[in-house]
Amino acid sequence: MRDYHTHHPNPSGGYICSVTRADWPRVAEADGMTPCFGVHPWHAHEVDVAELAFELDDWLVRNPGADVGETGLDASDRHRETLEQQRLLLHVHLGAAFRHDRCVHLHGVHAWAELLSILQERARCNTLPRIHLHAWNGSHELARQFLALGATFSVGLRELTHSRAEERYARIPEGRLFPESDDSPANWPRTLALFRLLRQGL
Ligand SMILES: [Zn+2]
Repeated sequence: MRDYHTHHPNPSGGYICSVTRADWPRVAEADGMTPCFGVHPWHAHEVDVAELAFELDDWLVRNPGADVGETGLDASDRHRETLEQQRLLLHVHLGAAFRHDRCVHLHGVHAWAELLSILQERARCNTLPRIHLHAWNGSHELARQFLALGATFSVGLRELTHSRAEERYARIPEGRLFPESDDSPANWPRTLALFRLLRQGL
């Protein structure tokens, strides 16, 4: 099974997300991986938004197999003060993904509800790209609303070992939930084993 969210090449293949603009060439060349171009919300305040919008378009045109990400919102104490820049940059990524018909890979820490309303608004305006939510840890009720927008999800070791994992993930339909290694490639075999265990009941 492929790794649905990582920042390092994985021999199993999968989606490798950039974190900063400087990361794009490295990600573009990762063997056997689908590259994702974007700027992580933790770095949103370091970016010239207009310039990034232009470059993202250019890189997507030159890499027809690439996706968009990592982007999203992080409202944790540490990153809350840059939320305004994060929102601006998120819209740049969502717009590019929609125009180029790519999937956008989203991060949402303490911000799933706001992300949902942004995506629902885009769905109303018919400008919603395909969406993938990584490190998904929301309730099943929230998952249901994202599923209605066509979302897929991925979970890593941290999510799979949470005491509420069963209640959160067991009812997400087949083909919509996938494993991820994120920043811990060494955890991949254990993540896969736990993921299969959780999904066995299907
Ligand atoms: Zn990530």
